[in-house]
Amino acid sequence: MTVAQLSEAELLARIFPRLELSALHSAAVVLGPGDDAAIVAVPDGRTVISIDTQVQDQDFRLEWNNGYRTTGYDVGWKAAAQNLSDINAMGASATSMVVSLTMPPDTPVGWAEDLADGLTAAISKLGAGACSVAGGDLGRGRELSVTVAVLGTLDGGQPVLRSGAQEGDTLAIAGRAGWAAAGLALLESGHHVSSLPPELLSMLELQCRPEPPLEAGPLARMSGATAMMDISDGLVRDGTRLAVASHVVLDLDPGQLGRLAEPLRPAATLLGADPRAWVLGGGEDHGLLATFPAGMQVPPGFTGIGSVQACGADKAPGVTIAGRPADSVGWDHFAD
Ligand SMILES: [Mg+2]
Repeated sequence: MTVAQLSEAELLARIFPRLELSALHSAAVVLGPGDDAAIVAVPDGRTVISIDTQVQDQDFRLEWNNGYRTTGYDVGWKAAAQNLSDINAMGASATSMVVSLTMPPDTPVGWAEDLADGLTAAISKLGAGACSVAGGDLGRGRELSVTVAVLGTLDGGQPVLRSGAQEGDTLAIAGRAGWAAAGLALLESGHHVSSLPPELLSMLELQCRPEPPLEAGPLARMSGATAMMDISDGLVRDGTRLAVASHVVLDLDPGQLGRLAEPLRPAATLLGADPRAWVLGGGEDHGLLATFPAGMQVPPGFTGIGSVQACGADKAPGVTIAGRPADSVGWDHFAD
């Protein structure tokens, strides 16, 4: 059955129960789906808000070179995860989200149901159980497109911005770096998905269903992080953004880069790639890049990967590796 064979009310009747997070229902949602608009409580007087769109053939493909078929579950998971990550990157916790889904008329109803399941699963499995879907919109279009807007709370605390890094701070990362890029390379390779061993399959799955470390953002805020952002476009590209915002140099430790690259070696060997390029340039893992005051032990979940240095006459804001400029090799939406 396709979505064109159901009325909007019939389709919503199939999707709503899948968004019902029962025991995990958000205290922030005063009024959920069913009326013309939802109502959300803002206990500390501010709300953190972010929005992101996933478009078919731009942000995801339905079919890949290696035979993998993207499921509605994957798209729903990724749409939720990316948005939850932006809230995490401010040091905040998500409280609610609204979803807009555009589908071609021939989209199977089961695909839309899977998408709702993927959204719900990401919220609960990634540890954003305080968040629930407050409302949304369904529409028809030429291609699949999912837009999620997510709201979050700082629980009375101060947000962690990109601009606060200070000379002498420790640079640290939480979550993975390069796994989703390795997964993307596998999806685009000629190595059929059914031939991949489990360790490589997990990289492919992390490209389709990223796992941002959602407990790390609020923990970093409470631990005194001076600057933070999530890595969505690559360690070097996003690190450069943080460096520019803080007017500092982020110097990466090559030994730590090697350590981050080590688990990616089996995929790199299969594809003849350099795993360090995935660590430096790969986006979409949605790990956190944060800076902490000098001499402070970084909080659990974070690993030190470098240090913050001052800019100088011969040193512009940016990312270096043991003092040498790192090329920006991350994904750019507007390139090519
Ligand atoms: Mg971000």
